[in-house]
Amino acid sequence: MSNTRAYMDWNATAPLLDEAREAFLRLALMEGNPSSVHKEGRAVRAEIESARRSIALALNARPASVVFTSGATEAANLALTPDYRMGRAALTIGRLYVSGIEHKAIFEGGRFPASAVSVFPVTGDGVADLAALDAMLAGHDKSSGLPMVALMLANNETGVIQPVREAASIVHRHGGVLVVDAVQAFGRIALDIEALGADFLIVSSHKIGGPKGAGALVARGETMMPSALIRGGGQEKGHRSGTENAASITGFGAAAQAAASDIDTRTATLAARRDRLEAAMLDIVPGIVIHGRLVDRLPNTTFFSLDGMKSETGQIAFDLEGVALSAGSACSSGKVGESHVLMAMGFDPRMGALRISFGHSTSETDMERTIAAFRRIAGRLTKADAA
Ligand code: PLP
Repeated sequence: MSNTRAYMDWNATAPLLDEAREAFLRLALMEGNPSSVHKEGRAVRAEIESARRSIALALNARPASVVFTSGATEAANLALTPDYRMGRAALTIGRLYVSGIEHKAIFEGGRFPASAVSVFPVTGDGVADLAALDAMLAGHDKSSGLPMVALMLANNETGVIQPVREAASIVHRHGGVLVVDAVQAFGRIALDIEALGADFLIVSSHKIGGPKGAGALVARGETMMPSALIRGGGQEKGHRSGTENAASITGFGAAAQAAASDIDTRTATLAARRDRLEAAMLDIVPGIVIHGRLVDRLPNTTFFSLDGMKSETGQIAFDLEGVALSAGSACSSGKVGESHVLMAMGFDPRMGALRISFGHSTSETDMERTIAAFRRIAGRLTKADAA
């Protein structure tokens, strides 16, 4: 980061790691098509397969169960479909149940018609209400097909970690399939698909310091797979056709290797920084609302609301102070939309909220700059109130 600005928006996209950049550039200059049988093609293929192994290792999955996509949104659209195959047999999913705080990539329901998507609630702290999910699954009409549930591992706005293991046992007791968006958790907390009991995990390269343009759908087994979203030449064992984005995939592999190494120490270091940041913010404004503060959260995320602060103006104020952060729910137009996450948590969605998110290479100077900016902005709000 330049020494005049602090980049505190890692949940939107993390800075490219050196090892990912090196891999990306190296592959961008290799001419072979990974499906070609000649030496040049085989060299690129070997790099893709090595990346597949790194990603599988980081998630305790089998390399054969990793399907590369263009990112998490595509992986979600691949996974969320009524049409599955179990080996050679067709399998139908009758209804999709999504938590109210899923990222739009999931919340939109993928290839399910809107009439086949139900939303289950979360508590005021932003934790999925599993009793409500259990009750909904008990009423599931099995004649339409199996139930599928999508529950993220960590929310992108609040950072709140979801009870995925418990959800998995409920979903499986009802004979259902669990899809877990692990995009924000990857690289920030330890991940293990077997321990989680998720049937599918979704991950994205650019959130862990890899290049944009790569992601993966990772299955716990190998036999149950969704119908292909992109058909054609049969790459990725027919699950995702099209010549692989070898440079981004290889960079993703390098980033996954880095993300998984020493993860527990990284988590603890980030959490200690986050705690210092939040203590300073609470000291400056005792009445600040830090969403999900009392529950298990990602160690790098602080989502907060201040009396009288709107998301859009707050974001601009921090930007002018040299701090890049976000409102947590910027849509593609760059405009700040109302947060469906805050709404699901029972807040007025027009309530302003800002997200600070950082990572392992965030410096102490960046943290200090953020606190100083917060002090000035909060001070101006108090003065405006008094006027
Ligand atoms: N899921 C979560 C939790 C996210 O935060 C994001 C990105 O913002 C996505 C999915 C979509 O990821 P991608 O940009 O790789 O499509």
